[in-house]
Amino acid sequence: MKLLRHGSRGHEKPGVLAADGSVRDLSRHVGDIAGETLLPEQLATLAALDPMTLPVVDEGMRLGPCVGRVGKFICIGLNYADHAAETGAELPAEPVVFNKWTSALCGPNDNVEIPRDSTKTDWEVELAVVIGRPGRYIDEQEAMAHVAGYCIANDVSEREFQLERGATWDKGKGCDTFGPLGPWLVTPDEIHDPHRLGMWLEVDGHRYQDGSTETMVFQVPQLIAYLSRFMSLQSGDVISTGTPPGVGMGQNPKVFLQAGQTMRLGIEGLGEQCQRTVQA
Ligand code: ZN
Repeated sequence: MKLLRHGSRGHEKPGVLAADGSVRDLSRHVGDIAGETLLPEQLATLAALDPMTLPVVDEGMRLGPCVGRVGKFICIGLNYADHAAETGAELPAEPVVFNKWTSALCGPNDNVEIPRDSTKTDWEVELAVVIGRPGRYIDEQEAMAHVAGYCIANDVSEREFQLERGATWDKGKGCDTFGPLGPWLVTPDEIHDPHRLGMWLEVDGHRYQDGSTETMVFQVPQLIAYLSRFMSLQSGDVISTGTPPGVGMGQNPKVFLQAGQTMRLGIEGLGEQCQRTVQA
């Protein structure tokens, strides 16, 4: 099942992608793709519906972030061996954890703003995991039962704010529009192995990232178990699991985004995003 949210910013409605590629409205069945809707029992109820019987949504309708009311937007840094190498960083002994503020969330095809005074805005295609069943002190063996689904995240990052402006990466990670999420929340039954997915990102048609979740260091069950030692995980929390090589700061010479460019990114089975960059 490919769940989504359609409509104008802040007024998104729940929907689902039908087999014929059309977007269908789920408003009569659930309030939002958020919170308790992400529990396994609720998802099973939605899965029993035939999308072709639901109202069709206008083809040009904007898609919002595929999950609503996100409580935590947690990110894992340096989680691909080949990406850690390109940034000159050591492979971490434990997962590197940082945050994106939830105000950074935006739709998969919304404009991405280059912050004022930014000269080093960069891209990162990532597999994001959305929590369904809440929990804490989760065993690694039980972790996958807490996953509501997977989606694409672009972990847009301002490298100067992140790395040159004093401790914590968060300053360069949570600017408004730095968290495109979607297009769909894809339920686990459609993703046979989240650790074997091709992933790529292009800027103005040039392919910079061309990797696979195969080179992830700490895999999804480990990450869920690890994070749940430090916080409770709740329905609708998002965990973005790190990026493969090919970011702008890894190029020689380094390449950063400017207003007027187009990012396209995708992950096998999870669809594609496309963002235009604009000046904030
Ligand atoms: Zn990242």
